[in-house]
Amino acid sequence: METRTLKVVLDYEDYKKYPFLREAINDIRLFGLTLEDIGNTPLGSELLRNAREKILTVIEKGQYPIHGDDYRTEVASFLTTLILLSEIGDDALNEKFAIAFSKRIGAELSKEPIEKVLHIAINTLGWNISLDSNGDSLVYYKHYLQGVPEYTEEWKLVNRLLSKGFVRVPREKFTRLVETGIKKYVLNLIEKTRIEESKIPESLYKTVEEIAATWTNLRRELVAYARSAYSDKKEDLFPPCIRSLLSELSSGKNLPHSARFALASFLLSIGFSVDEVLEVFKVTPDFREDIARYQIEHIAGLRGSRTKYLPYKCENMRSYGLCRWKCENIRHPLQFFFRAARGRPPRVAEIQ
Ligand code: SF4
Repeated sequence: METRTLKVVLDYEDYKKYPFLREAINDIRLFGLTLEDIGNTPLGSELLRNAREKILTVIEKGQYPIHGDDYRTEVASFLTTLILLSEIGDDALNEKFAIAFSKRIGAELSKEPIEKVLHIAINTLGWNISLDSNGDSLVYYKHYLQGVPEYTEEWKLVNRLLSKGFVRVPREKFTRLVETGIKKYVLNLIEKTRIEESKIPESLYKTVEEIAATWTNLRRELVAYARSAYSDKKEDLFPPCIRSLLSELSSGKNLPHSARFALASFLLSIGFSVDEVLEVFKVTPDFREDIARYQIEHIAGLRGSRTKYLPYKCENMRSYGLCRWKCENIRHPLQFFFRAARGRPPRVAEIQ
């Protein structure tokens, strides 16, 4: 197999266009930005703003935007999006983000010389790969499989030329292979991003909650699923704290204000209407429809300050005495809901 040596030099413009590059991430590590800086310093607030806008633009338009002129801001904003996505913990949102991101990268790569695309595949994706004298790529089959676009017959291994474990990929198809490889690489980066609960700054958490609420409202099928789970009394989708409140409510208990707020804001956040939440509270012994409706509308942001309230995070649930469980890797009841709805309910242990 004849191969050619690659001579590629990446510059700061490349780091800005391709913020996932190993070189780019290593470069900005030198600036020593910490998690506490995010949201607590002018630069950190800018990163959080950018990351929020990136994710919301992906949700609303399916596009990944680039911000500003400075490559360091762009790379650090990208890393901040990974933190936010990891905290939200919804696979469908991660998938949507990774698709939008890799498409953007694919569009940029299609304008690059093949040597640069190869360099990225080798150095960042870690693929074993070389370029033959015709300009076609020879990709180790395991790495080839990481980049195969889904649902396409022509990419199946049986339909490709395979020699000594390497798959020949024509020059014009190679960028597409790398694009899918980048999508999986980004999903893996999100999966690997884990932050200790106590280290998450408050401002970052507020952004997590805001994005989670926006995403849930758009996921009609999730809402329909939650409704049917509720009406069929299959409440496994809900975290134990919420299940416990529902069960106390249906056994005729009068819930304290914090518990009512936690339950109403959770149900509104997963897409229940004011009337549906009202229906849930009708079993309350001291139920008064006018008062209850006013309170629920207030939480939904339809009255007063017009602020839509988000459910408490786990830490607050515990401090109000509403949680006696430990849900693995969960920091917010909404996060539990997303994971359970995607068929990955978190492990739960009761705290004695
Ligand atoms: S850990 Fe969080 S999600 Fe789980 S029961 Fe407690 S408050 Fe609810």
